[in-house]
Amino acid sequence: MAGDERIFVGLGGNLGDAAAAVRAAIASLGALPQTMLVAASSLYRSTPLDADGPNYVNAVAELRTALEPGALLAQLQRLEQGFGRERPYRHAPRTLDLDLLIYGQRRIGGHVLTIPHPRLHLRAFVLAPLAELAPAWVLEDGRTAVQALSALRDQRIERIAE
Ligand code: ADP
Ligand code: MG
Repeated sequence: MAGDERIFVGLGGNLGDAAAAVRAAIASLGALPQTMLVAASSLYRSTPLDADGPNYVNAVAELRTALEPGALLAQLQRLEQGFGRERPYRHAPRTLDLDLLIYGQRRIGGHVLTIPHPRLHLRAFVLAPLAELAPAWVLEDGRTAVQALSALRDQRIERIAE
């Protein structure tokens, strides 16, 4: 049913009960058609980058799916809507943000969809949970997730206790 490529989705939210939204969204990812949830990272708390507002709760989920990247992105956006996401302006606080980080070894360049996500190597709130699930994953610049994370020690992020 599901494909054999490793797929990683980043989750984040900073409005309302963001931890509850992220947990519920992880469960929703596993319920997408032709999709299974392989693993979910711990939850992390991070201070907003380039933005104001409350701290974020972040996580990464690993999926297997038969959905092609565009169809998966459409499902992620549908889930965001279901969680009440509005887009009043760029980097606005949000109940739930779902980013398609990695789709196996695929490289897709485009405005609507870029894979791997173009900023993932710059964000500790993505790399810390990703490194939990796939520490040796090699990024486009040749560094592993762990190596890329260790270069971002100035970004404030902490694991949320269970
Ligand atoms: P951001 O996540 O950067 O804060 P949005 O969630 O509002 O901003 O996404 C803006 C646009 O980014 C979306 O309309 C989507 O089409 C595009 N996009 C491009 N590549 C990706 C990706 N890999 N994952 C999610 N969205 C992407
Ligand atoms: Mg997004």
